[in-house]
Amino acid sequence: MRVLTVAAHPDDETLGAGGTMAWHASRGDTVWVCIVTDGVTSRHDQVALQEECARRACATLGVERVVFVGLPDQRLDTLSLLDVITPIEQCIDELRPDVVLTHFQGDVNEDHRLVARATMVATRPVGTSVRRVCAFEIPSSTDWAPPIPGSVFTPNLYVDIDETLDTKLTAMKAYAGTHLSEVRPYPHPRSMEALTAYAQRHGVASGLLAAEPFMLLRESASAGMRGLYTGDDL
Ligand SMILES: [Zn+2]
Repeated sequence: MRVLTVAAHPDDETLGAGGTMAWHASRGDTVWVCIVTDGVTSRHDQVALQEECARRACATLGVERVVFVGLPDQRLDTLSLLDVITPIEQCIDELRPDVVLTHFQGDVNEDHRLVARATMVATRPVGTSVRRVCAFEIPSSTDWAPPIPGSVFTPNLYVDIDETLDTKLTAMKAYAGTHLSEVRPYPHPRSMEALTAYAQRHGVASGLLAAEPFMLLRESASAGMRGLYTGDDL
């Protein structure tokens, strides 16, 4: 199976789907990450350091390739949506993923919203390899959305990350080395303690010890209700 995670900023991939990607990589699946913006130039110019931390985090997760698109941080709304769609389409054309994971369209962060919209266009079900598209949660930006229709993250798919939560946390620690640390002290949502609590909270909601939550946005199932399941023990 091939999995592509499309993230707006370096660290979103780990926060949103780090445990899930680590699980797939540990099973021999091919995992790529596409990071659409540089993630820092709205605050400072240490782009290379941010990318280095992202490479370290993704290596920890077992990601085979990280694509840095390099669009301007916090300024995607100054571009045409096509400028965001095109590099995502290029990743999809090259990898031919079965599964695409991306942001929730209701997040507070505007880059997240635009990446989510662009990814839905890039994964439209016309001659595509993509069979499943899911939105992940970003602790902080997803939580801080207002309680109005379309802004509330309502997961309906929980991935067991009990085996890989430690790997996710180790990957996230790589972002403590960025110019302005992306890892914050508890009770910030991007603290180690909070990320553990999120995983446990979503595990509790789904009968698991630890889970990452997703909203299933679209699935084209060609194996009955097995969907994409390819294991032997179903
Ligand atoms: Zn972000």
